[in-house]
Amino acid sequence: MARPDESVVHGSKAPGETGSASEPAGPKDLPAVDRLLRLPDVTALLAEHGHTLVAGQARMLLDGLRAQALTGSLDRADIASAALVGALRHRIDATLAPAMRAVFNCTGTVIHTNLGRALLADAALQQVMALMGSPNNLEYDLASGGRGDRDSLVEGLLCQLTGAEAATVVNNNAAAVLLSLAALARDREVIVSRGELVEIGGAFRIPDVMTAAGARLVEVGTTNRTHPRDYENAIGERSALLMKIHTSNYQVQGFTASVDEATLAGIARRHGLPLVSDLGAGSLIDLSAHGLPREPMPQEQLAAGCQLVTFSGDKLLGGPQAGLIVGERALVDRIRKHPMKRALRMSKLPLAALEATLRLYLRPERLARDLPTLRLLTRPLADILATANALHADVERAVAPRYSVQVVDDLLGQIGSGSLPIDRLPSAGLAIAPIQKKGAGRALDELATALRTLPRPVIGRITEDRLLLDLRCIENHFPFAAQLPLLPDRLA
Ligand SMILES: *Cc1c(COP(=O)(O)O)cnc(C)c1O
Repeated sequence: MARPDESVVHGSKAPGETGSASEPAGPKDLPAVDRLLRLPDVTALLAEHGHTLVAGQARMLLDGLRAQALTGSLDRADIASAALVGALRHRIDATLAPAMRAVFNCTGTVIHTNLGRALLADAALQQVMALMGSPNNLEYDLASGGRGDRDSLVEGLLCQLTGAEAATVVNNNAAAVLLSLAALARDREVIVSRGELVEIGGAFRIPDVMTAAGARLVEVGTTNRTHPRDYENAIGERSALLMKIHTSNYQVQGFTASVDEATLAGIARRHGLPLVSDLGAGSLIDLSAHGLPREPMPQEQLAAGCQLVTFSGDKLLGGPQAGLIVGERALVDRIRKHPMKRALRMSKLPLAALEATLRLYLRPERLARDLPTLRLLTRPLADILATANALHADVERAVAPRYSVQVVDDLLGQIGSGSLPIDRLPSAGLAIAPIQKKGAGRALDELATALRTLPRPVIGRITEDRLLLDLRCIENHFPFAAQLPLLPDRLA
């Protein structure tokens, strides 16, 4: 309802003629756009945002109200000038708010593909900030003053870190595999074990990638067992290469056999074919030295005789989205010269972050501190538990009286992003349960939704009867606690 002291901006009638307060507002009671734009508070909005945005949003606001008025459901209070200005400001703020936002990852999965995978290290963020607003030597050779090659910015580092002769980089590992196959196996055959025909989320399936690259997939062995002779028997005139694919997101267990890289490299060498390995995550350091499950390393694969290894930049490497290709110079050169390389090349923005991330690996002793991915993966349980205890009371207050909150130290998280699917990370956090058992499922959904509507959305996971907030990835609990007072309103 319009308060008597509030002016009402309207179309055809003069102030005071606004009709009975109990009647809903009609389309004629709405002001024209120009009139709304002349309100003093709107003048301020115009000064701040310009005519295009403000007038456009004013038009859409009035269109919406007019539609409401036509159904007889528009309250007079909603067309008071203060209400109209408030609604307009709200629309403008919502339009300008970025769609991509920071969230709190309480899922327990550290490298979460849906939540942006690896967090960039400070060094990488600083490099991006320092370089992106300035001209730089992306493709300019400062020594000669001539044209340079963007790959050269990271090739030396990659070679140093993996022992490879040469390296090149593209947008992601899917592109690295696609490009490698297109450059090395077009119209020819690629021999792969049936046990390794993986599908990574988001429609990356090895058989489809082969087709897209114009290569013909030759499957050998069975789902659970592949032997050296299976590869040997499949090699023929049309063979382009042997391929080994890391089964990142599943494990074949039980009566199994596969051929290791060294054996396969021997077979490939005898037939004069390259052995290409798609590692997926691929860690540049031995994770077991950090108390984590071991993941194959590109340098080991090269040492075992693979001619080419591809892996991701934003999985265990802890950098930006990128596909890294390391190996023999002759093969890398063919890949680099392929026309598709130009279409798949990295842009300067992730390239700056990648270079800075790779440089962190030159000081491996400091990596668990400097690289967020490794820091989160190796975060001590006691530390995570301390965060849970620090947040317990605040969360309890925010969800009372409908839910109860418990500190839990028996959570099982995951590394994520298809790496190491079997191994779990012992973790701690908060378990929130509805007090009323009746309608508990709905109460949990409502809580999960309310948490997602916070200024920085909180993403947890629901198990049978509880919502779990795994706090491994919450290193600083203050910003998390700061927005909790907003939760009761969103739960109401
Ligand atoms: C993740 C993965 C890919 C795809 O890598 P992106 O960097 O996500 O494009 C390809 N192969 C394997 C084995 C993977 O694990």
